[in-house]
Amino acid sequence: MTSPDHVPEVERLPRDELWKEQQGSLQVQFALLGERSPFYRRSLEAVSPTDADGPRSMEDLPLTTRMALVSAQRDTPPWGGLLAVPTDDCSILGFTNAIATGIGEYPELLLAATSGDMRRRVAIAARAFAMGGATASDRTAIIGEVARSILHHTILGGMVGVGSTPFQIGRGLTLRHVRHTLPVLAPTQMVTHPTYALYLASLLEEEGTDLPIERIFLWGEVGPSVPSIRKTLEEAWCHASIRDVYAMEEMGIIAAECSQGDGLHCFEDAFIYEVIDPASGEVLGAGDRGELVVTPLFADAMPLLRYRTGDLVTLDDGVCECGRTHLKLRVLGKVVPGPSGPINIDLATIEQVLGAVMGPTVRYRVVIEDSGPILEVDIRGGPEVDMDASLSAVSSVAKTIDMELRTVEALPESFHRSTRVVDSRDLGLWAARAEEQRRLEQ
Ligand SMILES: [Zn+2]
Repeated sequence: MTSPDHVPEVERLPRDELWKEQQGSLQVQFALLGERSPFYRRSLEAVSPTDADGPRSMEDLPLTTRMALVSAQRDTPPWGGLLAVPTDDCSILGFTNAIATGIGEYPELLLAATSGDMRRRVAIAARAFAMGGATASDRTAIIGEVARSILHHTILGGMVGVGSTPFQIGRGLTLRHVRHTLPVLAPTQMVTHPTYALYLASLLEEEGTDLPIERIFLWGEVGPSVPSIRKTLEEAWCHASIRDVYAMEEMGIIAAECSQGDGLHCFEDAFIYEVIDPASGEVLGAGDRGELVVTPLFADAMPLLRYRTGDLVTLDDGVCECGRTHLKLRVLGKVVPGPSGPINIDLATIEQVLGAVMGPTVRYRVVIEDSGPILEVDIRGGPEVDMDASLSAVSSVAKTIDMELRTVEALPESFHRSTRVVDSRDLGLWAARAEEQRRLEQ
């Protein structure tokens, strides 16, 4: 059992010691990749194990994209040479990506984990939740798409590991949960997505239902890292503590906020984190904006090397007030393929400036067209919105972020922030997915 103020020793290690530990773990993982992963064997033939001399020479190792994994699985189904253990050694199977599946560049990827993988992921999850203040006296509602998700088992295990009493419900049948499930189980904390947390808060208010929520762990979208979104969530949830969590189906929880609520701590004893220039692949320094690249240091079933996350971030190497020494991650947006190379979409800035003008529930999306990204903003607004003032302010917002503006009047009321960037060729799929999400969550 871990008290909220307890910082495990590994999270307080001096950075040079952390680096040494990473180096040793990377050598072992690198050898395993070459020996057991058919997918990596060929690409690593040119690199000897001694070349993988820890993070300093990570740049010499190849980057991995999600699309390369998807293509490999399409070419040689079902695993595409990605499985590094016999299938009998896998203890759980799943898919990416519960929310964005089927949209454009997010086709699904078959995933597997061994019992060892799951033990390690659950241990990290427990550290992440303890870091955010979860305790043994909490009851936890874990809300999300459990089906086909390995990550939800990790979250459940982490909440059990920290000593809290979790229960899982799907995002469907929300009204029934608001009237029956949640009042009976009376959770003190929740794990869900920011958009859904806001939807749930409005439904609870309509129904006149109070829950004793003290803390909300949010993942899956650019969310609480943006101050205006954090404030909206805190107000909607009666000033409950908001904790941002960064997680991927492929690896589990990768970073989480401490009680300072200012950036997400990485788990550098388990992963190597890099920020790269998405166009050149060059590794950038602390504080630079670029694409997050993650290498898990302990992975049996599907080891990955320098995995490009498609997320626009910064990494901060300063020591936190909480005493933790591990890098701090700030998630700013997405890196998406464009007509002439990758494009950085800074959703944090868009949310911040649009929210200030149109309110926190502003409806917008970024459409990638052949001419570049277009910011589409729904200008229907509410009765309290001065449309002329909003239009002129939104135009200046578009100039600020150097993006062409298109006003529309047809965006859905609520949709997941992770799908706010869409390729123009996928607009039909996007609309169908948004409608499906709306139907599911009612
Ligand atoms: Zn901290």
